[in-house]
Amino acid sequence: MAREIAAGLNVAPAITTSGELRFGTCLLNPPSGYTLGDLELGKRFVSDLLAGETLRIEGSAPWLAQAQLPEDAQARLAVRVSHVERLPAANELLIYPRNVLVAVSAGVADLPNGVREALHQAAIALQSVACLLAADTDMASPALREAARELGVPLRFAKADVGMGELARNAIGQPVSILGDNFIAIAVAEQPLDPLHIGRPRGRLAVVGLGPGAAELMVPAVKAELARANDVLGYETYVRMAGPFRDDQVLHCTDNREEMQRARHAFELAAQGRSVVVVSSGDPGVFAMAAAVLEALHESTDVAWHSVDLEILPGVSASLATAAQAGAPLGHDFCVLSLSDNLKPWSIIEKRLDLAAQADLALAFYNPISRSRPWQLGQALDIVARHREPQTPVVLGRDIGRPGQTLRVTTLGQLSVDQVDMRTMVIIGSSTTRVIPCLDGRTWVYTPRSYGDKLAPI
Ligand code: SAH
Repeated sequence: MAREIAAGLNVAPAITTSGELRFGTCLLNPPSGYTLGDLELGKRFVSDLLAGETLRIEGSAPWLAQAQLPEDAQARLAVRVSHVERLPAANELLIYPRNVLVAVSAGVADLPNGVREALHQAAIALQSVACLLAADTDMASPALREAARELGVPLRFAKADVGMGELARNAIGQPVSILGDNFIAIAVAEQPLDPLHIGRPRGRLAVVGLGPGAAELMVPAVKAELARANDVLGYETYVRMAGPFRDDQVLHCTDNREEMQRARHAFELAAQGRSVVVVSSGDPGVFAMAAAVLEALHESTDVAWHSVDLEILPGVSASLATAAQAGAPLGHDFCVLSLSDNLKPWSIIEKRLDLAAQADLALAFYNPISRSRPWQLGQALDIVARHREPQTPVVLGRDIGRPGQTLRVTTLGQLSVDQVDMRTMVIIGSSTTRVIPCLDGRTWVYTPRSYGDKLAPI
């Protein structure tokens, strides 16, 4: 009826879902493990059926057994379920079972075309390929990844000290027939293959920054990474901050000081093919896990570790989150320092403080004080005071972006060590940093972008 009306109006009819209503199934949406050949031809096919034609089913289509299709062995229209390569025709609905696996060696030149050619010679459709499989010794190969991306199929790896044919046979848990050679082998199984159950993927390790705490300040790439993680590692507070997690995700909470151990554990998990996330607060590259993870990689000779898909994803660091709340105290050149002398001698910290203060850089202090480091902050402030006026603005941000956050604006002369704890970020202005008192009682702190006619007091 739609077609008659359309013909009368000289337009194309769009007929939706009526096939599903009539036949109890959507022919154009086969179950997982199968893929439709051509959607446009398929639409035409279904509208012919709706117009009263019959069809025959060739090949195995178990999901159609329950459908109310107008079947007839003599029908002009055919649903054909097969991995055989075939030119599309208007009277055929081609559905490809994904029952083919192609085992490839990374050494093959122009892999995508090599695979296409091998399939064509075997008269097998590319649409039936469930995945590419390679030896795990080839895991680091970019050519393999590029080929899988270009062919639009997943890439899996398995242990192999044998040719590609055996690699494929060993990885598939059902009878297969093997075609091809030692470089490209095609395995055809009787049933569709689930790539998730063949070998394993290349492991992934992402070191991510959660930002200061508030969910809105976490970058979307980090959210996506957390969603795909099998394992999440980190200091317990940060792992909790990164949640909630699903039941299938494994959390490995450790003490804050066991960084190298955590980094190595992360590589061990990723080298097994898992998707692993190591979390840091703020940015992972600022006094946090990214450097520890790279250090672990650097000291390892394990090929499996070096084959891991490693990525560092940034976050909003505490100094930037605090600065934004205060205004723009880091609006000109600034220097970021950790006052912790756990991993560097105090003499180096003193020297850096002295030179940075002398150079009139605004200063942001991470790890300003702790129970085991009670005196360092006082000394640091004494050094800064040699080069800065007592009225230099100071910003103290505590638990910024977290529940109960506080922001205090004071001056270097009024700052006392007991106003600061290990959850505080200390920002000390430069000689040009200014304060704007506002009508609502708050203040903005900023460091102008230029020196204007003020000369640096160096
Ligand atoms: N990678 C983190 C820093 C880790 S060092 C980042 O980029 O932010 C830990 C120090 O950062 C703390 O001692 C504190 O000085 C500071 N810090 C971390 N989170 C903070 C927050 N939400 N508010 C204020 N300071 C914070």
